[in-house]
Amino acid sequence: MSSQFTDEEMLAGRRLFERPWTFLMGVPSLEFLPPAGPVEIAFAGRSNVGKSSLINALVRQNGLARTSNTPGRTQELNFFITDGVPLAIVDMPGYGFAKAPKEKVEVWTDLVFAYLQGRATLARVYLLIDARHGIKPVDETILAMLDAAAVSYQIVLTKLDKIPETARPKMIAATQAMLAKHPAAFPQLIGTSSEKGIGIDALRAAIAALLAERAAP
Ligand code: GDP
Repeated sequence: MSSQFTDEEMLAGRRLFERPWTFLMGVPSLEFLPPAGPVEIAFAGRSNVGKSSLINALVRQNGLARTSNTPGRTQELNFFITDGVPLAIVDMPGYGFAKAPKEKVEVWTDLVFAYLQGRATLARVYLLIDARHGIKPVDETILAMLDAAAVSYQIVLTKLDKIPETARPKMIAATQAMLAKHPAAFPQLIGTSSEKGIGIDALRAAIAALLAERAAP
C-alpha cells in the first residue's frame, strides 16, 4: 500500500503536515461556503469510523477535528487550512447514525450532494471505511453520490490495528473487488490506523502528490 509512493512524495507529505493547521469555519449550508480557491480534499465516512482521529493524526494535532461520542451531532462541512499552501481539508459530516431523524438525513444529503456536485476545486474525497466491517449498505448512499457527481475518490481503511495482520490482505482484496463496480473510485486503498500510526505517512504522501498535480500551473 505505502509502496505506491516515491521517497520524494513521502517527504513532501511529511513536510505538508508538519505545518500548523487551523480551523477556518463550519459550513451548515452551501451559501456559507468559503470562496473557492485552494485545492480541497474532503474526508467522508460513517459516524464513528475514526474520521476525526485520522484527521488529527494526519496533522499531528490532537484537538483539531473534534472526536465525538455523539455520532451524527455535527452536520457541517468543517474547513481546515494552513498558511502558505493552497490546500484545504474538509471534514464532512458523518452519516449512518441509526437514530437520526429524517429531516437530519435530508439536510445531510442535500448539503453533501450539493457540495460534491458543485465544487470545482474539490480534488478528491477520501472515503473512510472501518477495516473490521468493509463497505456496508450504510456506505451505499455516499458511494452513489460520488459516482453520480463523478468526484475522484479513494477508500481509506481505518482502525487496521483492530484486525489481525493475517486478515488484512483478505479485507483489502475484498474491498478492492467491490470497487470494481465504481468507476470514479481509485483502484488502490490506503490502510491506516490512527492509533498505531499505520499508513498515515502514505496518506500524507498521497495528498502531497495530489496537491503537486493539481496546484501545478
Ligand atoms: P468519527 O466519529 O468518525 O470522527 O470517529 P472518531 O475519530 O471519534 O473515533 C471513533 C472511535 O474509534 C473512538 O473511540 C476512537 O478512539 C476510535 N478509533 C479511532 N481510530 C482508531 C484506530 O485507528 N484504532 C482504534 N483501535 N480505535 C480507533
